[in-house]
Amino acid sequence: MLGVLRGVVALDGPSGTGKTTVARTLAGRLGAGYLDTGAMYRAVTLAALRSGVDPADPVALEKVTEGADIGVGTDPDEPVIVLDEDDVGEAIRGADVTAAVSAVAAVPSVRRILVEVQRAIIEDVLDEYGGIVVEGRDIGTVVAPEAELKVYLTASTGVRAARRSAQDSAAGRQAEPDEVRAAVERRDRLDSGRATDPLRPAEDAVELDTSDLDLEQVVAVLVERIAERDMLGESTPAAGMWPGTEGGSAP
Ligand code: C5P
Repeated sequence: MLGVLRGVVALDGPSGTGKTTVARTLAGRLGAGYLDTGAMYRAVTLAALRSGVDPADPVALEKVTEGADIGVGTDPDEPVIVLDEDDVGEAIRGADVTAAVSAVAAVPSVRRILVEVQRAIIEDVLDEYGGIVVEGRDIGTVVAPEAELKVYLTASTGVRAARRSAQDSAAGRQAEPDEVRAAVERRDRLDSGRATDPLRPAEDAVELDTSDLDLEQVVAVLVERIAERDMLGESTPAAGMWPGTEGGSAP
């Protein structure tokens, strides 16, 4: 028995570093909640595409974000994402959303609205369950700078592109390796180069290169860091007690 997570683990890094698998595994094993902030940016992007809004129009994007009814589940075993009562778990991973999401996520007003919702969800989960693993690009720097553990995962571009490609094929999406690599590099460039809340490690983040590590090795390092910080409590939360879907309309 590892113990139950107390506090916030912020997990940032570019795509293909294993954030999602690591975050869900860690949260599941430590009886904690899980929040995928990337799914929220993807849901807003899908809302914009569905309503025909230009991803380069910040004013229209702010309106779309304000009006979108986004619900995000915090159970690591079932991280549902709902847009206007529609389960969009698959739709937000489509090539159209992936191609447009970094432009949408660069809009300051979109970020301001989503960061506020993300902080509220984290507070709710902490109040009720005591611990949460949050993944994204700006969790340690902006969303939860007070997180007890901040982690920044990296991996070589080749490894990240190969992982993304494998995920895409497994999910039945078209995955030409060269195209996937170009898309990964483009998204990194946009996410790291934007003016508002760019992708970067927090000053006190633990940086971990996952290029040559498997899931269990990454999880083992992080559990060690969590234990060192006294973030493990003793009781196990009752199974099946997760709150349903959190979030809702942005303010
Ligand atoms: O994590 P995922 O690849 O699903 O994220 C999709 C996109 O959402 C990222 O490429 C980035 O543009 C944006 N994002 C962000 N801030 C976060 C999480 C995701 O800007 N905290």
